[in-house]
Amino acid sequence: MYVNTRFNFSNFSLIWLSVTDEEEYISSEIFPLLTKELKQELGIGKDVEWSMSAFLLESEGKKALFDAGYYCKGKNGILERLKELKISPDDIDYIFITHVHWDHIDGLIDEKDNIIYKNAKIYISKEEYNGKLKKYKPDKIGLVDKFKKIYDKQIVQFNFDETLPMGIIPIKAFGHTPGHTCYRKDELLIIGDLIHGEKVQFNHPEMSSVFDNDEEMGIESRKKILNYAKENKLYIVGHHLEFSKSCLFRDYYCNK
Ligand SMILES: [Zn+2]
Repeated sequence: MYVNTRFNFSNFSLIWLSVTDEEEYISSEIFPLLTKELKQELGIGKDVEWSMSAFLLESEGKKALFDAGYYCKGKNGILERLKELKISPDDIDYIFITHVHWDHIDGLIDEKDNIIYKNAKIYISKEEYNGKLKKYKPDKIGLVDKFKKIYDKQIVQFNFDETLPMGIIPIKAFGHTPGHTCYRKDELLIIGDLIHGEKVQFNHPEMSSVFDNDEEMGIESRKKILNYAKENKLYIVGHHLEFSKSCLFRDYYCNK
């Protein structure tokens, strides 16, 4: 298990941060259309491996997080990882939000509802900020509203024709949530929750997971973004891709 792993690109570095220090699995039932036959063909059993992740990108003295994870067994997983790296939350300049599901934004707020990342500007697409989640509603505690209220002065809503700080390019990947966003930095693409089970969805982007807000739109986005990554020979990382040494980067499409 590799909870903090650094990769050096030509102009920046990326650290894959794991919320937990255990290998993570999820029931393959999250893919309702996954048949017995296809499971056999793909070598999938009862569960599929995934991860609960966030990412730290460092470039030219600036630090950016891509989402912030959540509290697991009473601990703020991503904050723990930052501590191990001797990075204070005050050192984070930017946080780019892929979407507002609880496992991506819970870690922004402490147990007493205080801001954790005091100096960070928080970037979120207008569509995600203003969108409504239709299904899969884990937000029983009003986390999204809390996030908007607490971070009001630090939140920047962006349009998709803008280039964001650190040369980050936001890319529409709607469907998983109303404004779900992938982010590109040079040869890297951070895909958020475009994929929940890589053994299933890299080969079968038409397989939606139960977490997708709008399945049809999600399928379209998945196909479009995976093609875009292939055409541009991009490395892909994602918040639920497998966290293991052998598959830290998805150069799958580049090698085909
Ligand atoms: Zn999600």
